[in-house]
Amino acid sequence: MTTRRIVDLLRNGQPDETVTIQGWVRTKREQKEFCFVEINDGSSMVGLQAILNPTLPDYAEVVKKLSTGASVTIAGVLAASPGKGQRIELKAETVTVYGEADPETYPLQKKRHSFEFLREIAHLRSRTNTIGAVFRVRNACANAVHQFFQERGFLWVHTPIISANDCEGAGELFTVTTLDLKNVPKTKEQEIDYSQDFFGRRAFLTVSGQLEAEIMAMAFTNVYTFGPTFRAENSNTSRHLAEFWMIEPEMAFCDLDGNMDLAEAFLKHIFKSVLEQCPEDMEFFNQRIDDSVLATADNIINSSFERITYTKAIELLEKADRKFEYPVSWGLDLQSEHERYLAEELFKKPLIVTDYPAAIKAFYMRLNDDGKTVRAMDILVPKIGEIVGGSQREERLDALERRIQTMGVPQEDLWWYLDLRRFGTVPHAGFGLGFERVIQFMTGMTNIRDVIPFPRAPLSADFRASSVRAGFANDLDFRQSSLG
Ligand code: ATP
Ligand code: MN
Repeated sequence: MTTRRIVDLLRNGQPDETVTIQGWVRTKREQKEFCFVEINDGSSMVGLQAILNPTLPDYAEVVKKLSTGASVTIAGVLAASPGKGQRIELKAETVTVYGEADPETYPLQKKRHSFEFLREIAHLRSRTNTIGAVFRVRNACANAVHQFFQERGFLWVHTPIISANDCEGAGELFTVTTLDLKNVPKTKEQEIDYSQDFFGRRAFLTVSGQLEAEIMAMAFTNVYTFGPTFRAENSNTSRHLAEFWMIEPEMAFCDLDGNMDLAEAFLKHIFKSVLEQCPEDMEFFNQRIDDSVLATADNIINSSFERITYTKAIELLEKADRKFEYPVSWGLDLQSEHERYLAEELFKKPLIVTDYPAAIKAFYMRLNDDGKTVRAMDILVPKIGEIVGGSQREERLDALERRIQTMGVPQEDLWWYLDLRRFGTVPHAGFGLGFERVIQFMTGMTNIRDVIPFPRAPLSADFRASSVRAGFANDLDFRQSSLG
């Protein structure tokens, strides 16, 4: 007899069908004549209710073992449920308990636990309603990402995790080394001698796959990456991880307008697809986590994103009747509070800001004719701020060389990147989308550590993910308490 997924039975199961299910006990209710247990196999938020009749062999002993968290196989017959809130239930005929979960020590007893508490038990928290829903949505979203690009003929390219590029200038780098830390070789100048290291030079964990994606776009026209990215950002915020996943499409023969159009279509697609794939989970987030989740999704899917230049954004911020913590003036980067004000309060929908000052953006962005701004675009959304960062790339060799010089980027490391402009260069553009930021935005989860199974952040590399200690700059909106 094959095991059926519970989500399938809840949707399609018919009375009198003989079925087997496997999963973990969520709740148990003992009554005089029956025992009800709700079994969850992770396929949906709601479990299937099984009814155990005292005529079952070893009834008392089995019921005792079926506490919250215990693992079981139950075979039986489906029946229409007289109870409220469920269409069908399972009349158990055989029950096999694999592993008990001692109610005295199993941590997930209460109906709701705080997310902080759950972060301390990252090895168990996926068995809760909220975190379970998050990871089903995460899976559905990943599926939608591939579907969107594959349907459009984009090639999924795998860019390296270990990289020697340190010229991106994005965030902080983790060094990858096999040098003996107790006895580090030094050069004559008393610097660490990386020529004796594994790669013969200093190597890092990648902060972005973009530069490699550009190489691939010059062969395959349209490509995307979807993989882990690392930044040693020493800050405890609700939006930053040390290890996160990024999606980076790169398109040849494409300018900034094409880039913005694709990014907007892409966001619309993934929201729509997640709503279709996970309607119950999205409903749950709307009811229990943030009552604007469904309205936000609707807003993304049905509104056209506002598009303004950075110069215009600064004008609007200077006019705003409110005090910002960080100063606003042309030439300074937008802070999260500015981004949120624009998207959340002023426009009340996603907003694309373009043409930032060259000095605050990376060397590879295409210089505008004004000589001051570059063809950058950031997509800002309510609650999160920046969710996408992208640009049209500088495809002109001489202009790129000048930019590299003014920005002081070591040119000798970029010979291969310059080659792309020497041989068959074309206008091209792309963007990076932080996958966890999107999941946060979709689900309304306030802390990014609750949307990745095993968050890596300062002082958190194990299964206790919430260590927050003094000494780290704390972000203002790092919320401490919320219920799961
Ligand atoms: P921020 O200003 O929020 O730190 P950034 O300017 O460093 O972002 P980019 O270098 O443009 O970000 O990276 C592209 C995308 O990756 C961002 O738009 C964001 O969605 C995501 N991202 C960046 N840093 C992190 C991080 N530490 N954790 C999770 N996602 C991140
Ligand atoms: Mn950053």
